[in-house]
Amino acid sequence: MAHLKGSQWRESKRALDKKSRAKAKHFDYEGSQEFVDHYTEDADKTGIVIGSALGRISLLADQTQVNCSVSPDAPRHLAKAVVVGDVVALSEFENSLMVSGLTERRNVLSRMRRDATRRSYLGAQEQIIAANIDVAAIVTSAQNPPLHPKFIDRYMILLQHNDIDTVLCLNKGDLATGEERRILDEYNRLGVTTAETSAVDNTGIEKFKDLLRGKVAVFVGQSGVGKTSLINAIDPSASYRTGEVSTSSGRGRHTTSASTLHMWDENSYIIDTPGIRSLEIWDIEKSELQYYYQEFVPFNPDCKYPDCLHLNEPLADCAVKQAINQPNGISQARYESYVKILDEL
Ligand code: GDP
Ligand code: ZN
Repeated sequence: MAHLKGSQWRESKRALDKKSRAKAKHFDYEGSQEFVDHYTEDADKTGIVIGSALGRISLLADQTQVNCSVSPDAPRHLAKAVVVGDVVALSEFENSLMVSGLTERRNVLSRMRRDATRRSYLGAQEQIIAANIDVAAIVTSAQNPPLHPKFIDRYMILLQHNDIDTVLCLNKGDLATGEERRILDEYNRLGVTTAETSAVDNTGIEKFKDLLRGKVAVFVGQSGVGKTSLINAIDPSASYRTGEVSTSSGRGRHTTSASTLHMWDENSYIIDTPGIRSLEIWDIEKSELQYYYQEFVPFNPDCKYPDCLHLNEPLADCAVKQAINQPNGISQARYESYVKILDEL
């Protein structure tokens, strides 16, 4: 598999950025994005949003979790618009702390949601899951549930789409065999930062912490891979309740129904949000998908047809297909994952 130099990786990302910018213009964003026009500029005191319910916003301020109402002066629907990771302005109002506004988002983690009931252009709607994210850790497990490279690829596509740095974590390392480690190494060769951990044996935790320290990190990954256990291993004072994996299916159960935002060191936060645990199809054009498989990018200029999808085109005309299983080429598994996802778009 090709090891991409930083410059090549950036090149493929640039191609993507251009495409998504062009596309963004056509979407009729709604929901929380409308608050871009209502950002508050000055805030004496701020808090980081964990979640909201029934018009109240749950947040972390001065390292304490509080539930605040929204001030009457704040934009309408503010409580509905905020997402985990949002930084809100706080002010004293009749002796209680209230949320008075939303500060500008540095970035968002969002996905496109197809919505048949809405007549928006192309029928897609942006759903913001979290804001102000520095890094996303894709948490996988060696066993229970088993490691699925196709899941990893989906998350990687989503995160690249949002231009968010990624760390790939193989948890339950105590159950790992050579096969799972080989898969992890393949991603490492693609330029993805990887880590192996065991929340049970407490191994790899310090290295993993080094990758997350000083950052707002969001944990994504299937239920049951050990996200909650990892938060507890990173900060034993967290003591979140973990779930059992049902033995019959090997699949996890949903145990956390709300987002958590946990501060485990100075300026170091972990967000675990159920919003990202299941992955639906989001909106990417078929012709665009190949740019999310960055190791394809060096080959596609050599395909005969500029709009080659590397699918049914004759082998003689497709440089991407010719690169499969070649030294410094494309792995069979990644190509298959591309074909599978292409089929769903
Ligand atoms: P989450 O749904 O991703 O938050 O997963 P949980 O943290 O709730 O963990 C699901 C199950 O996996 C629990 O029974 C944990 O005890 C178990 N588990 C978590 N981490 C590890 C690990 O590193 N090794 C092993 N063997 N089991 C783990
Ligand atoms: Zn091709």
